This record gives sequence, C-alpha cells and structure tokens, in this order.
Amino acid sequence: MCGQILGPGYLSGIGLTIAGVFGRIAGREAAALAGPAVLTAQRPALADRIAPSAPPPEDPLANARRTMNLCNTCGFCSGLCDVFPAAQLRQGLRDGDLRHLAHLCHDCRSCHADCQYTLPHELAINVPAALAEVRAQDYAGPLPRQAAGPRSAVWLFLFCLFAPVLGTLLLVPPQVLFAPQAGAGAFYRVIPHPVMAAGAALAFAGAGMVLAVRVWRHWRRSGGPATRHSPATLFRALTDAATLRNLGHGAPGCEDRQGRVSPIRRRAHHLAAYGFGLTFLATLAGAWLHSRGQVAPYPVGSLPVLLGAIGGLAMLAGLALLERRSRSADQAPASARMLAEDRFARAQLAVVAGSGLLLLALRETPVMGLMLALHLGSVLGFALLLPFGKLSHGGWRFAALLRHAGERAARRPRPGQADKSDAPGE
Ligand code: SF4
Ligand code: SF4
Repeated sequence: MCGQILGPGYLSGIGLTIAGVFGRIAGREAAALAGPAVLTAQRPALADRIAPSAPPPEDPLANARRTMNLCNTCGFCSGLCDVFPAAQLRQGLRDGDLRHLAHLCHDCRSCHADCQYTLPHELAINVPAALAEVRAQDYAGPLPRQAAGPRSAVWLFLFCLFAPVLGTLLLVPPQVLFAPQAGAGAFYRVIPHPVMAAGAALAFAGAGMVLAVRVWRHWRRSGGPATRHSPATLFRALTDAATLRNLGHGAPGCEDRQGRVSPIRRRAHHLAAYGFGLTFLATLAGAWLHSRGQVAPYPVGSLPVLLGAIGGLAMLAGLALLERRSRSADQAPASARMLAEDRFARAQLAVVAGSGLLLLALRETPVMGLMLALHLGSVLGFALLLPFGKLSHGGWRFAALLRHAGERAARRPRPGQADKSDAPGE
C-alpha cells in the first residue's frame, strides 16, 4: 500500500522511511499533545544535536557521494525530480556520476523540505547544497583554489570594466572623447571599429571554445548507464532547456517550506535568458547592417536598437525578480558558495544590460565615450569569466539534460520488450 502511495523506489528504503518519517511525525504529534512545557524541555537536547557527531566531509564530491548514497537507500524522493531516479541507476556513484547528478539538479530545494534527515538530524543531509557545491567546483574547474570563486572573479570583472575606461582616458584626446558625438560612425571616433570587432570576436570565440572543451570532457567522464540518443532525445533536451521545464512546478504536489513551488523563478529566468538572447541578436543585426554599409549608431526604431533595448529591459526585470526571490527563499538548503556565485552572475549581467541601456540613453552627450568604454569593458569581463563561472551553467546543464534524455530513451521498451522505465514524466 505504501509503495503505491509513495511511488517507485519506496521499497528500497522501506524500513528507513517508516522509522524516519512516520516515527518523526508520531513524535511531533505526541509532543504537541503533551503541551508546550514538554517542547521547551526538549529544546536543549535538540540544540545539542544540531552539531552532527560526524560533520559532513568538506570535499564536495565526498559529501555528495555520502548524500546520494543515503538517498539511494532511502528512496523517499524518487518521484520529486529527475535526479533521484538517475541516482538509483548509478549504484557505484563515481565522481562522473555525481557530477552528472549535480548538473541535473535545478536547485528547487523541494527535497530538502521533504527530507527527514536534515539538521537537526545527525546525518545532516542537504541534497541541494551538496549538489550545488559540486556544480560550483565544476564551474571553477582547473583554476587554483585561490583564484576560484566569486571574490577573484569580482576583481577580474572590475578590472575589465574600468581598464577600457582608463585606456580611453589616456589614449583618446579630450576634445574628441568629451565632444558630443552624433551621426554615423560616432562610436568609432572614440574606439575604432577594428579594435571593438577584434576584441569581441577574440574574447567570445576563446570563451566559447574553452567552455565547449570543458563540457565535452565532462561529458566523456560522466558516462553512466546505457543511453540511446536520437534526434528525438536531442529535441527533448533542447525543449527542456528552452522551456526550463524543470523550473516549473516540479512534480505534482512539489512544495518547499513556503508552500507550493512558485513559477516565478522560471518566468524570471526566462526574462533574463531570452532578454540576453535578444541583445545577442541585436549585436548580430548591427553586424549585418555594418556589412551593408550602414554604420552605428542606429536610429531608435532600427532593429539593433529595438532588440537591444527590449532585451536589456527584460534582462534587468528578470534579474531583479531572481534577486528578490533569492533573498526571500529559505537559506537553509542553499550552498553559501553557490549563493555568492549566483549573486555575482546576476550583478555581472545587470552591469552589462544597464551599461548598454545607459549608452543608448546618453549616446549623444559628452559622456558617450566613457559609457561606451564601460559597456565594452563589461562585455569583455562577461566573456572572459564565462567558462569558469555560474554563467557557464547553461552548457553543463544542457549536457546533463541530453544524457538524461538518452538514458530514458534506452530504458523505454523497443517493440516486443517490457517497459523498464521508472523515471517521472515518462
Ligand atoms: S533527500 Fe532525504 S528523504 Fe529524500 S531521498 Fe534523500 S535522504 Fe531520503
Ligand atoms: S533540489 Fe530539486 S532538483 Fe535538486 S535534487 Fe532536490 S528536488 Fe531534485
């Protein structure tokens, strides 16, 4: 009966689950019936247990292995998301397996709200934080420990932001830099077009190649159960990535401590991601017009300006919503390192979008030259940090979604075979 109610995987942890879940619920109910005096008397004992007898290992992979091994035994959260069924297919839980699971996790934190082994339980299980730490380790990759993390990234970003401003102040004569510029070629009187084009092409091509190589190596090392890839699995992964399916309401009944998981994170993410996509299209549209002899700045009603302005505003709105949601969310299941990475990523994108919009607004004033240098610096910093920070997560996550789609396809029966699939949403 319990197996039918709680779904696949329940039987693997039946004893643990009954003792943990129903025992705990019964204990709470008994304490509530006994009244406030008993609850107060229990508090010191509870506080003593907040420090677990064996603290979780500091190594992110060791902690993730410990955590997911327990989840594989417990099986209580099998129906919540794709991570738990995928973990159950990987009993060995090698480093590559854990990395795949980490990038499959979308950090909804529902499992933390449901888990009976979180603090103050001495096992101190925290699946979202454990997997987030592995993701953060993957983003930083081969960077030395001192150079990895948001603190160094902030300094590098600030350097990229202000170095072009300083360079412009030193190299461009003040009578050109601070003169109101208007008409075709106004930007290029301050910073020559070849410098801009070559800088952007080198930075983005280099960043794209480094990220592609890193994700490819991750793909090679994170092989798990059999996969069966086809155009359909590629389409499924692309659809999941484009619609952010996993950021929706999750499984039926999926909740966190504040109730049903809100769709706001998905919508905010869409605004930021598609807004960024529009600004990228604006750059392509500008390049196309330039190749046809129409030189920037373009009129307000032109395609590059419209796409850039709408995209920039959408980015800022999405980032503000994400920031607000992050501040109001329950912090217990969060990884401090990932929170800092998230905040820095949002700040980076906000500076790129905000400086672009300011440049648009001030392009015919004497500060246009400095705003242009600032905006180009923000774009340069974004590109240089892309392969080693949170903003690279799209590549890692797409690889995880594609592998997961292939695994599910391999478990689907061929004609004449029995169905072996137990993944949610099948
Ligand atoms: S998160 Fe907790 S309840 Fe869920 S499967 Fe893991 S150990 Fe079990
Ligand atoms: S945080 Fe959400 S996506 Fe990640 S393992 Fe838990 S339920 Fe799954």
